[in-house]
Amino acid sequence: MQIKEIGEFNLIRRMSAILGTPKRPIIAGIGDDSAVLNPPSGKLLLVTTDMLVENVHFSTSTATPYQIGWKSLAVNISDIASMGGEPTYGFISIGFPRDTDAEFVDEFYTGMRDVAEKYGVDIVGGDTVSSPEIIINISLLGEVEEDSYILRSGAKIGDAICITGDVGGSSAGLEILKQKLSIEGADKHLLPQPRVQEGRFLARSGFVTSMIDVSDGVASEINHICEQSKTGAHVYMKDIPLSSNVVSVAKYTNKNPYSFALFGGEDYELLFTCCPDRFQFLHDQVLCAYNIPITQIGYILDDLSITIEDEYGKKIPLEPKGYDHFKS
Ligand code: ADP
Ligand code: MG
Repeated sequence: MQIKEIGEFNLIRRMSAILGTPKRPIIAGIGDDSAVLNPPSGKLLLVTTDMLVENVHFSTSTATPYQIGWKSLAVNISDIASMGGEPTYGFISIGFPRDTDAEFVDEFYTGMRDVAEKYGVDIVGGDTVSSPEIIINISLLGEVEEDSYILRSGAKIGDAICITGDVGGSSAGLEILKQKLSIEGADKHLLPQPRVQEGRFLARSGFVTSMIDVSDGVASEINHICEQSKTGAHVYMKDIPLSSNVVSVAKYTNKNPYSFALFGGEDYELLFTCCPDRFQFLHDQVLCAYNIPITQIGYILDDLSITIEDEYGKKIPLEPKGYDHFKS
């Protein structure tokens, strides 16, 4: 059945049934004119929003509705993680073409519910309209202790530049999907796992000076940290932890494997800076608690140059060539 046969109100009822009741005690959620929430007491409120457009951010030819739903909310959760926060309430504004199947919407909301449940998010409102293409705007609230939020601007000269997990896997996964390669690891692109617990631990450790999530690629994120912190940086290409699918996809597509990590994006790992003599402590703690390795890939410099040493030991500028929506 197409959603034009169901109508807006029944569609919202259907979405609401999939989402279930919020876990947090709220005063009003889906069904009233505004959500009425209890503000976090003694904490700071975090607010983030992201917009996703069909055939720009996702395609129904390479992702299932479940995966699109999962990823739409996951990318917002990652923005809260990168501040050291805990995600709380989500608002989902969505445009679907009138001839969309109701099953598509159901699956989309099931993906969103599952990622919401995994990360403790309550979806408490939104808006539903018809649109020529699918368009999704999510707003997500979060909270963080007053003394443990982390900005992009805090990097200090001599700090270690570190990264959680591995990178490049998402854009390598996209190549697998687009070229229909028989290589494992498309999940890295379709079902990202934001690093909320790791971000909370790092922020509360007191040793992390700046943090950002890897949405546009490592090169772009390092440039953001340096710009906001008014520092330079030097990175060692060979130290960048590549995802397991990258090497085979790079071989197949005849690309430098590190280009997936540097310029690909959508890995949703955390890139952060810390005092270099605290690196080992943070590494051991995060590995022990969450089974995720942390790797140092470079350090912060006092001049404003941002450079990378390539595989051959040659020092070259590290351009912020991540995905940019306005560049042709
Ligand atoms: P209004 O006309 O007052 O804006 P709506 O009919 O748009 O109300 O929405 C009714 C209720 O359903 C509101 O509480 C709204 O937050 C919620 N809602 C609407 N669309 C969605 C959606 N896509 N996901 C979650 N909640 C939604
Ligand atoms: Mg409305």
